[in-house]
Amino acid sequence: KKIFIPTPLADVIIIPREETHHLLRVFRHPQDKPIVVGGSDERSGIYQIVAVEDGCASAHCLRYCDEDMADGPEIILMQAFLKGDRFEWVLQKATELGVNRIYAVKTENCVAKYTSDKLAGKTARWEKIIREAGQQCGRMALPSLVIAESMHDVCAEEEDIQWLVAYEDEDKHTLRERLEEATLVGCDRIGIIIGPEGGFDDSEIEALMSVGAYPVSLGSNILRAETAAVAAVSMISYHYMK
Ligand code: SAM
Repeated sequence: KKIFIPTPLADVIIIPREETHHLLRVFRHPQDKPIVVGGSDERSGIYQIVAVEDGCASAHCLRYCDEDMADGPEIILMQAFLKGDRFEWVLQKATELGVNRIYAVKTENCVAKYTSDKLAGKTARWEKIIREAGQQCGRMALPSLVIAESMHDVCAEEEDIQWLVAYEDEDKHTLRERLEEATLVGCDRIGIIIGPEGGFDDSEIEALMSVGAYPVSLGSNILRAETAAVAAVSMISYHYMK
């Protein structure tokens, strides 16, 4: 049974007094071990309900008692802005499919052009779509949405993520092959980059490869960007599903 604690995970989490009765109602038996999902931390952990430790009358604590319960690696989607509701559709499907973080980024051939003030309004709407998709599919931890300036800079900063860029002109390696390699090396953070309606320029692919990203093919058909996003995230998600 999972409970959502909207605070960063720590070794011991003090449960606020008003939450205690709910917690003890859900976890009636002392051997129950709630899987706690932290608000700001997208990974979860098994905790044990322990009796009062800090002297307050009825507070309870959860003590971290097991390794991280996350099933499989973190999945990070970097999606070029798309026009209209296609981008919103990608956010909704990526949330349902278990993505842990979503970078939204402007690339050379984006059709959608957002000024910074328009982007503020859009971001609020996109976050609402993520929240609604999370509620609908029963996710505890929601993917964070990050508006990024540059794909290259994100990849350069997030170097512990194995970045794969879905490139429609790639004819050597498929996503499946790269996933099998990543599994072999025990990679626990997989990033997939999907281009805009106008695709990637070769120079963008070269820049991403220079920071360790691998181009991957999603097959011989040229997919719509939103189809490619859902296809790629599904492949990664189900590749690791136990
Ligand atoms: N340049 C493409 C064309 O010639 O029509 C348009 C790009 S496609 C509509 C949008 C994005 O989806 C691409 O940038 C890529 O990220 C992804 N994509 C689509 N089909 C793909 C494929 N077969 N292999 C890898 N990525 C693909």
